[in-house]
Amino acid sequence: MSAQVPVRSPAERREALKALYLKACSCTRCPELAATRKTVVFGAGNADAELMFVGEAPGASEDEQGIPFVGRAGKLLEALLGEIGLSRSEVFIANVLRCRPPGNRDPEPIEIANCEEYLRGQVELIEPSVICTLGNFSTKLLREDPTGITRLHGRPEVLLLGRRAVRLYPIYHPAAALYTPRMLETLREDFARLPELLALGAPEQPPAEEPAAQVVAEEAAEAAPPAVTEAPAADQLGLF
Ligand code: URA
Repeated sequence: MSAQVPVRSPAERREALKALYLKACSCTRCPELAATRKTVVFGAGNADAELMFVGEAPGASEDEQGIPFVGRAGKLLEALLGEIGLSRSEVFIANVLRCRPPGNRDPEPIEIANCEEYLRGQVELIEPSVICTLGNFSTKLLREDPTGITRLHGRPEVLLLGRRAVRLYPIYHPAAALYTPRMLETLREDFARLPELLALGAPEQPPAEEPAAQVVAEEAAEAAPPAVTEAPAADQLGLF
């Protein structure tokens, strides 16, 4: 099988990501979340990142700032990144949900389904080689399987997401590790294997078909009415 030739330039993928961001900013698919959120937390970081993290859902700090992982769990994530010589600006960080569930309750299955398009669009447009799922929600969603993080953490696997093959690497959620020293140790060990995974580069890709980024861009552009929720400017997210 031949390696996939990139069908969209970085600039085109970035434009499509911006259109997807604008679409998310006005999303009202989950009435409770749309009514209670302060911001839509789309995701932030390098739009050409090789490494993408997917957490669960924004908490109070993230909802305030419109940026994922800026609270205590985020500080831990940043520290762990620093330990392997990376910074936030080199990776892309997103969540299963883009709006904060009230009281930080678990995401509902319908909310996860409603928000899935944004996550899958981000993967398609950012084209990461490695996706690190943080905890159960993102791991189960992307693997489409109920196996939990305790069994899967630290085990990379190649997964086809849409038309893109990625190295999926489930690890514990930093928020869980904050209060459990043994889990933190395991998280740190799993993190330490990320550089070797990244050094492998992208897995072999299926043959190119339709220009995937173009499809997402066109759909998002068609459906992007004005934002109804206050949101950070796109350049504050490092997207553009
Ligand atoms: N926990 C998450 O899963 N995501 C965030 O953005 C913050 C905390």
